[in-house]
Amino acid sequence: MHHKLPLEIEPYRAAHGGVILEGELPLNTMPRLTEQLLSDEGVVSVKMEFDLDEVDMPYMRGHFSCKVSLSCERCLEAMDVNLDVDCLLAMVISELKVEGLAEQYEPWLLESNEPVALSAIVEDELILSLPLIAKHESACLPNDVWLSEAEDNQAEEKTVSPFAVLSDLKKKK
Ligand SMILES: [Zn+2]
Repeated sequence: MHHKLPLEIEPYRAAHGGVILEGELPLNTMPRLTEQLLSDEGVVSVKMEFDLDEVDMPYMRGHFSCKVSLSCERCLEAMDVNLDVDCLLAMVISELKVEGLAEQYEPWLLESNEPVALSAIVEDELILSLPLIAKHESACLPNDVWLSEAEDNQAEEKTVSPFAVLSDLKKKK
């Protein structure tokens, strides 16, 4: 069964119903992601399969892909980056259950059966897949300029750890 993408989904109900969703979401529905991008134009191609595994664990297998525009850390010009995410999330009620989770799963903490915004799930996964440092593959600036810039970047990275942001995101799930 293929459905158009709804705004919200009830994950447990979807898993019990074996729902498959396929479609596109505009990037501009994902403000936490686009604040890290140069542009919020474009769409994310989304596929989600909700189901129960052989021990009745409800899960969602997702594939999300899109092209985003980041600024190169070396020359500060725009660069296109393809984000391509495969995820397998097991729905868990409390953090206590996370420990017993089969190792192929990432935990998806859901406190209740309330509907969740589809774009928020996709957005979290795309944010986690952003490159920590985006740079053109070819040397876009002479080496001496790039070396001094690298030192600047290192100093900045110490003040805001990207991992602190990631762990906050995980807690929100
Ligand atoms: Zn560059």
